[in-house]
Amino acid sequence: PAGPLGAQLDGVSFWYDPGEPVLRDVSFRLRPGERLGIVGRTGSGKSTVVRLLFGLHRPVSGRVSLAGQDVAGLDTRALRSRVALVTQEVQVIHATLRDNLTFFDRSVDDRRVCAALDEAGLTDWRRALPDGLDTVLGAGARGMSAGQEQLLALARVFLRDPAVVLMDEPTARLDPHTEQQLMPAMDRLLEGRTAVVVQHRPHALRTVGRVLVLDAGTVAEHGERAEL
Ligand code: ATP
Ligand code: MG
Repeated sequence: PAGPLGAQLDGVSFWYDPGEPVLRDVSFRLRPGERLGIVGRTGSGKSTVVRLLFGLHRPVSGRVSLAGQDVAGLDTRALRSRVALVTQEVQVIHATLRDNLTFFDRSVDDRRVCAALDEAGLTDWRRALPDGLDTVLGAGARGMSAGQEQLLALARVFLRDPAVVLMDEPTARLDPHTEQQLMPAMDRLLEGRTAVVVQHRPHALRTVGRVLVLDAGTVAEHGERAEL
């Protein structure tokens, strides 16, 4: 990692539609390398917190910061080089496996692409492909299972090696067995990085130190995982 960064929300309130608050006065602080789980009912605001940290929205009031800097003041390119977001939606593009990881950046070495696939646990799959990194993926081309697509999403993050990883229920569309198969790669990805992990299934939160419980946009509880 490029050097771990801390992340912080200070008194953050947010709405999508004026007058309908989605988050109210949410605060938490993650030291570099610390991992926070967020749980809470559907609609409680978990994804909104993650999207604020990813710079997709600006808070209505309060402050979202990374490494002590207001996210609102960071340009998108700088933010994207430090923070990765993994969700259940994986866009497999109609392009080669290599380009699906590098997004057509020709300066990325094949060895690094292979290493990222290996870290994601896709070694056997990659080796079985007819054309290796030149295999074309996507619509009408080489098919992938939902689990493999999710691992591809993790491989993209391993390649970029960001200091901060945000996960918003990346395994939600997988069956429990497939989800289990992803856990080692997810654990490896979180290792040594600052992370916010939204997960419904509690066992997926075993790698976080602290858990924040959101209820209708407010922090209902916040503490060590073992205490909640
Ligand atoms: P889930 O567990 O179902 O994923 P969540 O905790 O992630 O829920 P959010 O997606 O953060 O919840 O949504 C919080 C509130 O904001 C909900 O009331 C939701 O309807 C509303 N909301 C989310 N996205 C938008 C949007 N783009 N426009 C308007 N309202 C939105
Ligand atoms: Mg959500």
